[in-house]
Parts: sequence; structure tokens; C-alpha cells
Amino acid sequence: MESIVLLGAETVATNGAAFRVAAADVAAVVDLPPFDNSAMDGYAVRAADVTLASATVPVTLRLAGRVAAGDAPAVTVGSGACVRVFTGSPLPAGADAVVMQEDTQVDGVSPDFVRVLDAAKPWENVRFRGEDVKRGAAILRAGEKLTSGRLGLLAAAGVARVPVSRRPIIGVLATGSELVDAGQSLAPGAIYESNRTMLAPLLERSGAVVRSYPLVQDTLAATTAALDRALNECDGVLTSGGVSVGELDYVKVAFEALGGRLDFWKVAIKPGKPFVFGRRGEKLLFGLPGNPVSALVTFLLLVRPALWRWQGVTNVLPITSRCVLGEPLVNRGDRRHFIRVRVDGGGVVHSAGTQASHRLGSLAEANAVVDVPPETTLAAGTPVNAVLFDV
Ligand code: AMP
Ligand code: MG
Repeated sequence: MESIVLLGAETVATNGAAFRVAAADVAAVVDLPPFDNSAMDGYAVRAADVTLASATVPVTLRLAGRVAAGDAPAVTVGSGACVRVFTGSPLPAGADAVVMQEDTQVDGVSPDFVRVLDAAKPWENVRFRGEDVKRGAAILRAGEKLTSGRLGLLAAAGVARVPVSRRPIIGVLATGSELVDAGQSLAPGAIYESNRTMLAPLLERSGAVVRSYPLVQDTLAATTAALDRALNECDGVLTSGGVSVGELDYVKVAFEALGGRLDFWKVAIKPGKPFVFGRRGEKLLFGLPGNPVSALVTFLLLVRPALWRWQGVTNVLPITSRCVLGEPLVNRGDRRHFIRVRVDGGGVVHSAGTQASHRLGSLAEANAVVDVPPETTLAAGTPVNAVLFDV
């Protein structure tokens, strides 16, 4: 499904940077630049007139006129003449170079003459029509994100409306009778809910529009009612908690009771094993484990790629950075362990401390995870691909 991002004055209102280009490529409407123009403040000349110019032997040219940025040039540069130009001025006919102002002197006695103090080569300081982008060229491909640089390119190339994929609306539900919202007082046995807060910005950055729902008690009735509402109001629902093997884990059974079909449950990774994915028609269910680290890792590995695909992205592999281990990473278990790490500015990977899946202290230290195969120790110095969190 498509919507439109408007460029120009409307861009701010439409927050174009959150979108991706819809199915078709976007083409340049005009050449960029649209005409040959000056790259400098200076004088448009015929290069042949000034090939021998130097500070000691200047060449004097007659000033034949002025073309400001925005002017349509009416003047032609003849032999022995020059025309005053500025950065972005259309190059007047006859000229094939621009001498920068710093290499010239205006004659104090006869201001209609300009002394050129340096030689110019043909086409020096000239920006050619279409050298950046040719009219009709595909400047953006389907699925690509409207980054700030791309938005600038689209606007400059004359595109006013970009067809983009509609952003998926994702409902976020946190299940758990122990959960309390931030700012409330904590009763005995309760903990503060943190997964919605942690995942909302990641969802946004993945292109989703986030709709946050109230906390869900661990009963079948509450879970079913909450899921039903979110499934009806959103394109997909991301739940946290309640997907494990306990008798108070109701997400799967509630989803099936509402007509959903589970595609898979349990993945051979650590953390994040109890992750479940299901569908009801076009609607998606991402059931994340409640432990914060498990929720984050399964989001990165399993939810974000699905959201990208939903928006037309073809390469949905995790965004990784090639790094080198600064210390060994050990996986003694029989599942792939996505170990949370801190990648420093030099691309060296440091363990972010304890790896227990409930520990938020070391999660906050981390900025990436590294995939360590079962029963494997990766020695210090090993090159690895770190999956970055906040891209
Ligand atoms: P569950 O997956 O429901 O078995 O929860 C696993 C662990 O994660 C339990 O210790 C929960 O208290 C905790 N937990 C579940 N949901 C959240 C949440 N939204 N925020 C913080 N901790 C949570
Ligand atoms: Mg729970």
C-alpha cells in the first residue's frame, strides 16, 4: 500500500525521513544541475584568452556585463572579454571557464577592465548541466529509505511527490501481572515495565508507527481482549512476555482463540528462545519473550527484518559492522548465543559484562550483539560482524 511524501515546504510536516520508497523507482525530473553554471565567485572567460596569465604578467579583459545567480544570461563572452559571475550563476554563452575572484584585480582607474592574475584551463570552475544527475535517471530504488541526503537529492532533481510505502502500524502490548507503569508506586512483587519504552524507538526507526497499549494482566480474558483490540486497530502486534511454557503464559492461546495461526514458536538462539510468530490474515503477531535482553535481541533478528520487508526492502539482513574481538567470547551452550557487546570507535569489540537475559545494566552498556556459534570460543583478534542496535 502506498502514500505520498511531499517535498519542499511540506517536508517538515510529513516527516519524510521515516518512509521508504514504494514499489517503483523514482526518476529525476530535471537535469541536476539544470544548466552549466559557475562554481565560484569570479569572472567567466574564454580560457584561450588567459592561458598565459600570471601575477607578474596579468592579462587584462574587458568587463562585458554581469550575471547573478537566478539571472537568465543575456550577455555573450567574446574574445578579450569577461563577465562577472557568482557561485551558481548560469555560464554566459561564449565562456568556457571561470577565473576565481581571488585571482583577479579590478582596474582602479578603468573599472570596466579586469586583470587576470592566473591561467585558467578550459572548463575550470564550471559545473556542467546534468553532471550530478541526468534527467530521467533513477535516483531512488524501491524500498530505499528517504534519508536526509536522498530527500535533498529528490527535491533538487525536481521531484515534488514521492510514492512511499505506508508505514506499518504496530501495536505494542506488555503482558505480565507484575508490571507497573513508570511513575507509579511499586507494590511488593511488582517491577517497572520497560520493554515498551525500549522497543518504541527501535520500532519507529524501523519505519513503524507505534501504538502503545495499556499493561495486560496474566489472564486469558485480559490477554484475549487486549490482543483482539490491537489486532483490529493495527497492521501487526508486538507483545512482550507470556510466550514461554508457564501456565500463566497466555499470548499463544489467546491469539489462536482469536483466529490467529502460529507459524513458529521457539527459535534455537540465546537469548530469545520462546519467540513466537503468527498471522491472522494480513495481520502479524510478534510474540517477544519478556526478559528485556531477549526482547531486544529477537526484535533485532526477527522483527526488524519483517518490518523492512513489509515496507518493500529487499535486503533485510541485519545491519552489521565488521569488527575485531578485543577479548575472547565464549559460548558453552548448544544454541547460537547473541552476546551483547560494546563496539568502540576503533571497531574493537568488548564484552558488555554479564550476559543474563534479565540484566539491563549490561544491556545499556552494549551497542551491538555478536553471533557466537554453539560450543565455540572466539579468540581475541577474531574478525566478527557485530549486529548494531541503533541504526
Ligand atoms: P515472561 O516472558 O513473561 O515469562 O517474562 C520473563 C521475565 O521478563 C520476567 O522476569 C518478567 O517479569 C520480565 N518481564 C516481562 N515483561 C516485561 C516488561 N515489559 N518489562 C520488564 N520486564 C518484563
Ligand atoms: Mg510473564
